[in-house]
Amino acid sequence: MSPSAIALPEVLRGEGLPVFEAITPDAVTAHIPGLIADLEAELSAIEQKLEAQLAQADGVLSWSAVMDPLQRLGERLRWSWGVVSHLNGVCNSPELREAHAGQQAAVVQFGNRVGQSRIIYRALERLQLQHEAAGSGAAGQLDGTQQRILAAELRDMQLRGVGLSGAQQQAFNAASQELAELSTRFGNQLLDATNGWTLRFSDPAEVEGLPESLKAQLAQAARAAGDDDATPEAGPWLLGLDMHRYAPFLKYSRRRDLRERVYRAHVSRASGQGEASAVSASEAGSDTSEPLNNWPLIERILELRREQAERLGYPNWAEVSLAAKMADTEAAVEGLLEELRAAALPVARQELEALAACAARHGAPEADDLQPWDVSFWAEVLRRESFELDSESLRPYFPLPRVLEGLFSLCGRLFDVTIEAADGEAPVWHPDVRYFRILEGSGAGSGSGQPIAAFYLDPYSRPGSKRGGAWMDECLVRSRRPDGTPVLPVAYLICNQSPPVGDTPSLMTFEEVETLFHEFGHGLQHMLTTVERPEAAGINGVEWDAVELPSQFMENWCYDRATLLGMTCHWQSGEPLPEAEFAKLQAARTFMAAAATLRQVHFALVDLKLHSQWHPGCGQSPEQLRRAIAQTTTVLPPIDEDAFLCSFGHIFAGGYAAGYYSYKWAEVLSADAFSAFEEVGLENEAAIRDTGRRFRDTVLSLGGSRHPAEVFETFRGRRPSSEALIRHTGLVPA
Ligand SMILES: [Zn+2]
Repeated sequence: MSPSAIALPEVLRGEGLPVFEAITPDAVTAHIPGLIADLEAELSAIEQKLEAQLAQADGVLSWSAVMDPLQRLGERLRWSWGVVSHLNGVCNSPELREAHAGQQAAVVQFGNRVGQSRIIYRALERLQLQHEAAGSGAAGQLDGTQQRILAAELRDMQLRGVGLSGAQQQAFNAASQELAELSTRFGNQLLDATNGWTLRFSDPAEVEGLPESLKAQLAQAARAAGDDDATPEAGPWLLGLDMHRYAPFLKYSRRRDLRERVYRAHVSRASGQGEASAVSASEAGSDTSEPLNNWPLIERILELRREQAERLGYPNWAEVSLAAKMADTEAAVEGLLEELRAAALPVARQELEALAACAARHGAPEADDLQPWDVSFWAEVLRRESFELDSESLRPYFPLPRVLEGLFSLCGRLFDVTIEAADGEAPVWHPDVRYFRILEGSGAGSGSGQPIAAFYLDPYSRPGSKRGGAWMDECLVRSRRPDGTPVLPVAYLICNQSPPVGDTPSLMTFEEVETLFHEFGHGLQHMLTTVERPEAAGINGVEWDAVELPSQFMENWCYDRATLLGMTCHWQSGEPLPEAEFAKLQAARTFMAAAATLRQVHFALVDLKLHSQWHPGCGQSPEQLRRAIAQTTTVLPPIDEDAFLCSFGHIFAGGYAAGYYSYKWAEVLSADAFSAFEEVGLENEAAIRDTGRRFRDTVLSLGGSRHPAEVFETFRGRRPSSEALIRHTGLVPA
C-alpha cells in the first residue's frame, strides 16, 4: 500500500488501528494544524452550547451533553498525536523529529485551553451539584465510575487555578510561570556543574582497578576533549561526574584518594562551593561569574509552592500533591516510610559492618574508618566474593521466544486468557514488530475464546531511530462506539534488547526479562480492563502512586523459582537455568538492599517534609531540615560539603515534588499483592488460579473506576501491609 493510495482521512482518522506508513513527516506537518483547527472550532461550539445551558437557572446538564463530547474531542487528539509521538519514539528520523517539534506547541496549547476553560469548569461543577442534590436513582445521579471521572477532572482543573479569579488568579499564573523558569534554571545549573568538572589521569596507577569498558569510556572522553591520541590502555583518561563514569569509578577504583576527590565534587555540585560549582564554560566569559548555586533557587521554589498551595486552599504543597494520590494523608505516607526505615536501619548497619570486615580481610587501612566514598568499592568486592553473578553469561538461557512462551503461559494460568500471535493482521511500523491477540479463556473448555485485546511488541534496539529504555503506551483505549459496538484495547509494548544474529535468537539478560514483565504488567492493566468509559479504563484515572502496582507485581514472578526455571532454556543445549545461578539471582536481589531502602526513605522523607513543614520563617534552612532527617535515615551521616538538595532534580527540576515516596508506596502494594499468592502456596495450582482471577477482576479490571485503596482491599481483603516488601528485600536482622 503506497502512502499516496491512502485517502487523506485515513492518515489521522482518529480511530482504529493506525496505518503507520501513511503517517509520514509530511503528513504530520500537513494534517496536524488542520486537526487542531477542527478541534478548536469544536471546542468553541461545545463551550457555546454549555454556556447557553448554564445560563438557564433551571436547566439540567446531562453527562452526555458535557462529558461525552469532551471525551470524544480529547480522544481525537490523543489518537492522532499519540501515533505521531509513538513513531517519534520508535522510528525517529531528523524529518519526523522536526515535524513533531513543529506541532508540539500547538498541541500543548490546545490541551491548556481545554484544561483552563472556565465554561467547562462551571459545567463540571453543575454536574457535581446536580449529583449531590439528586436522590438515589434520580436524574443527574452518577454512578461510581462517573463520580471518579468527574472528581478527577474538577480537581485537575482546580489545581491549574481555574477556580481562582481576579488578582488571585493573576498571582497564581505569575507564580506558575516563575516556578517553571526556576525549575529549568535548577536543571541547567545542575547540568553545567556536572559537565563543568573533569579530572584528567595520565598515570596508569590512577586508573588501577577500572574495567576495560570504563577505561575505554574515559579515553573516549579524553579524545573528545582534545587528547587525540588517548587510548584505553595508555590514556590519558578523562573522568567526569555524569553517572556513566562517576558510578563505576567509585565502584572499581582502587585509589581511595581519587574516590574521595570525585565523591566530594559530586555531592557538592551546584552548591556554590566546591570544585563542581565553578562557573560553566559557557558563562565563564560573562561579567556575572558567580559560582553555580542552587540554594537560593531551592528556597524560592519551596516558598512559591507553599503560596500556590494556599491560593488553592491547601495548607502546603504536600497536601496539593496528595490530593491526586492514593495516599490520603501525610501521616499515612510517613507511617509507611517509618515501617521501612525501622526495618532497614539495623540491617543497613550490619551491611556496613560486613563491608568493614571485608576491607579488614584485605588489610585496607580504611577498615576502621569507612567513608561514603568507600562504600561502593567494598560492596563490589564483597559481592564478587559472595556470589559472582555474570549477567552476560546468563543470556543463552533466556532466548526471547522461550521467555515470551513463559510469560504468556503465566498469564494464562493466572488470568485465564490465551495470548496468540496475530502477525500480519495489523499494519506495523517495522518488520521486527510483532502483533498478538488476547483471547478470553486459557484452554479447552474454559472461557469463550472471544478476543478481548491486542498488543504490538517491538522488542529490539535500533540505535539511531528508536528511543532507549522500555515502555508501554496506549494505542486504543477500551470504550464503546456510539452505535454500541466495543472498541477493544490495544497496547504498544516497547523494549530495547539485542536483536537476533544469524541463527542466534535474541538472548536476554535477566534484567531485560524483568523489564519485559514490568511493561507487560502495565499492558495487562490496559488490556484486561472491563471499564468502558475511557477516562477510567485501564491505566487512566489511576492515581500516580498506585500505577506501578501491576507492573512491579509482574516482576515478582521473575523470582518465583518454578516460573523462572520454566521459561529458561539454553538456546543450544536446551538446559534450564542451573539452580546455582538462580540462587545468585536471589542473592543479588537482597544484596545491600537495606542501604538502598534507607536511601530511598531518606529522599522520600526529605521531599515530603520540605513540602509540608518548611517555610521561610520556620527557623531552619532546607539543609538543616535535611540533616535532622539524616540522623535517623543514614548510617554514614552526610559529610560537611554534602549538598544533595542542590542536585535533587526529581523534586526541583522534575515532577516528583512531594511525590518521591511513590516509588516505595507502589513497591509495598506490589509486594503485598504478590504475597497473596505466596500465602495460598505457590505450588497450590487451584488456589493460585483463584487468586489470579481475583487479581484480574480487581486490580487489572477496575482501572481508575474505583479508588485504588478500595481496589486493593477488594483484592487483598485488607489494607496494604509493608511486611511482604520488608521480607522480599531481606530486611530481617540476621
Ligand atoms: Zn512502570
